[in-house]
Amino acid sequence: MIYFDNAATTKPYQEALESFNKTSENYFFNTASIHQSGKTASKLLESARQQILDLMFLKDYDLVFTSSATESNNIAIQSTLRRKKAFGSTILTSELEHPSIVNVLEEMKNEGFNVKYIKTNSAGQVDIEHFKSILDNDTIFVTTLAVNNIIGSVQPIEEMVKILKDFPKVHFHVDATQAIGKADIDYRGVDTVSISGHKFNSVKGVGGLFVKKLANLSPIQYGGGHEKNIRSGTVNLPAITSMAKALRLTLENARAVNQRLSKFNDQVREAVSDLKSIYVQKKSAPYIINLSFIGAKGEVVVNALSERGILVSTTSACASKLTTLNETLLAIKMDEAVIEASIRISMGKDTNQEDVDELIKALKEVYEELGDVLA
Ligand code: PMP
Repeated sequence: MIYFDNAATTKPYQEALESFNKTSENYFFNTASIHQSGKTASKLLESARQQILDLMFLKDYDLVFTSSATESNNIAIQSTLRRKKAFGSTILTSELEHPSIVNVLEEMKNEGFNVKYIKTNSAGQVDIEHFKSILDNDTIFVTTLAVNNIIGSVQPIEEMVKILKDFPKVHFHVDATQAIGKADIDYRGVDTVSISGHKFNSVKGVGGLFVKKLANLSPIQYGGGHEKNIRSGTVNLPAITSMAKALRLTLENARAVNQRLSKFNDQVREAVSDLKSIYVQKKSAPYIINLSFIGAKGEVVVNALSERGILVSTTSACASKLTTLNETLLAIKMDEAVIEASIRISMGKDTNQEDVDELIKALKEVYEELGDVLA
């Protein structure tokens, strides 16, 4: 099996698994227990929290541990909007968001909020001029992802922070799920930032929400208030220590990994460049290559590759309940033929030259096999 679906999820670092196991075995205690072992577990929790804040250069922030980026996004949006209702009703977002943003905002519309979409440029980034032009005094919330999960485009987060300095009423949320180790972004100034451990080689079931001002948030689910009175439920300490370990390794290795993946990305592009029915999206974050065998459905190509032991994913499936065509590709004005045919190849820290050679060979074989089907 050759794995090219790292944007969906990643294989944990061995050290992250060891950390999970060691904590499960030796520090299985409830971090809220007041006995000696509970206190030890709680110390470990706080040291993981501090380590993650330091690694992200967000020393002055709080970090609320969650189960996933989906949960982090839900807390950031629902909690902030309900608190800010009196100050305005407009939310600005990009056309490139994950369902864990899109579908929450749909729900917020039912609660009377008004959602406006920032236009996208051809590179798959928010159009900054359009953003400035629609920001107004009724705007209370802006949300965008940092790196898009379909084409890997990187958003101008720092520039948006600068612009929002003139709008102190606005809460700026960033979904950084796909960005960790992939794009060098300074999040200082952003109000809330979501991350998810399983996207950067930690175990699954753990995420985080970085928060600039904790007092601006309130829970959306009620219980014991374990995590800063924002998120309840017994803390998943083994997964949190695993995430802290994975984050350190991911950031330490980021430069070398990205250089290698960038070279692989170019190799795949070069290899298919003379195949006339293949359309390749522009290169952004190096780990993603999104391409279309025009004339064939994405699923067909995914299955043909899968039969050869190569795992990629399709992007034509519903990105949300709103449309059957992928919204990111619609936003960058791709036509239906490109969208329906698109597949996403996403590399990771373990991707090597042999994998890429096999992928290229398989892409060419599938191309031959599809023959007349292709446009
Ligand atoms: N946002 C983005 C941009 C994502 O790619 C994903 C995962 N596909 C999520 C949020 C949700 O992450 P999780 O699986 O941790 O809920």
